[in-house]
Amino acid sequence: MSKPVDSAVNAVRAHIALHRAAFLDDLAEWLRIPSVSAQPAHAADLRRSADWLAAKLKETGFPTAEVWETPGAPAVFAEWPSDDPEAPTVLVYGHHDVQPAALEDGWDTDPFEPVVRDNRLYARGAADDKGQVFFHTLGVGAHLAATGRTTPAVHLKMLIEGEEESGSPHFRALVEEHAQRLAADAVIVSDTGMWAEETPTVCTGMRGLAECEITLHGPGQDLHSGSFGGAVPNPATAAARLVAALHDEHARVAIPGFYDGVVELTDRERELFAQLPFDEERWLRTARSSATHGEAGYTTLERVWARPTAEVNGIGGGYQGPGSKTVIPSSATVKLSFRLVAGQDPDHVERVVRDWAVRQLPAGVRHEISFGAATRPCLTPLDHPALQAVVRAMGKAFEQEIRFTREGGSGPAADLKDVLAAPVLFLGISVPSDGWHAPNEKVELDLLLKGVETAAHLWGEFKGNLPGAH
Ligand SMILES: [Zn+2]
Repeated sequence: MSKPVDSAVNAVRAHIALHRAAFLDDLAEWLRIPSVSAQPAHAADLRRSADWLAAKLKETGFPTAEVWETPGAPAVFAEWPSDDPEAPTVLVYGHHDVQPAALEDGWDTDPFEPVVRDNRLYARGAADDKGQVFFHTLGVGAHLAATGRTTPAVHLKMLIEGEEESGSPHFRALVEEHAQRLAADAVIVSDTGMWAEETPTVCTGMRGLAECEITLHGPGQDLHSGSFGGAVPNPATAAARLVAALHDEHARVAIPGFYDGVVELTDRERELFAQLPFDEERWLRTARSSATHGEAGYTTLERVWARPTAEVNGIGGGYQGPGSKTVIPSSATVKLSFRLVAGQDPDHVERVVRDWAVRQLPAGVRHEISFGAATRPCLTPLDHPALQAVVRAMGKAFEQEIRFTREGGSGPAADLKDVLAAPVLFLGISVPSDGWHAPNEKVELDLLLKGVETAAHLWGEFKGNLPGAH
């Protein structure tokens, strides 16, 4: 017999009220460790941060909490098996490294000396991502207190990496190496945000990313445009034609095969996106752009969240100095990136881009093309039982309808989906004003505690609701 919803909600809130102060003190202690992964001088701080978290997770009750080595910064793994052998296994992902921060960047107070002002906690990492990792600790405590259990209702695992802010260079190898211990029926990523404080949302997917650089070579040296102009191919012109051929007149990507496999938006998703209080004028002001532009037939949110893109990130070649220099440049360079959506395979995209690029070039222009490491897209369908569990848990915490978003950016979460073959869900309580990567990063304390509440309700919601569990 499960207790009526309101008594569980009240029991969770009572537990949180009792432990709120200690929870915030602990978080502040962790935030004081400047675990900046981009700066080699902070290597010892990353280790301190990992050790600190492992010790705290043990104190929370996790029987296993280990620091896992990588060729770079260490990660933390923790595991708390349920006493119910039939329970599903859930892996929480987050990161303990932070972006660089210094007072002179424009912070009002020391970024590594947390302060509370106006019910907001200011510190580097407050929202991205220590605060959102840490709400799971009090969350699982509240889950046990409210249900009278001694172990969680799911086999609970946590993997908290130390290199996310540096592009997670060793993450995939780490996940592959430990795939067996990380095995899970679902992954909860707590490294995202919500639409707004008054509009709680669950993110259902992230776009993937493929990047390439194309160098076009024409004549073996820069040539005099009087002696040779009009009679040999110009690689800068070829670069411009290549870039111009990326899209058709409807701003659709014109590379044959690029859209192969793309999972289209459902009518329901489009309807739900359209219900979000999106102020396009304001969004344009943030972008400091005077107009929107994108694939015909889609709204701005759909373009950013659910459609694949091809963008020119850089184009260069020829004389860039003051005055004029009448040359035909010998080479030109184009940097392109492609945001990918569910159903697109980065390897296939690389193949079709290579085939397309070579066909755009005139005789006498040869090219080199190189691709960086790609990030896969991920998407969980709206009716997936694990997603519904997150929505119900958030609903209990926020006492509001929970809406859906997606994330236009890309992250290492897709590696977890890929290697572990488990659905990825996003549980984050951060809001756009939290200032990720910026001066005066903060987390709203009320939302942080809603995160604790959501985590407290989540494990009970998962139980019995995951197909393919155990
Ligand atoms: Zn993050």
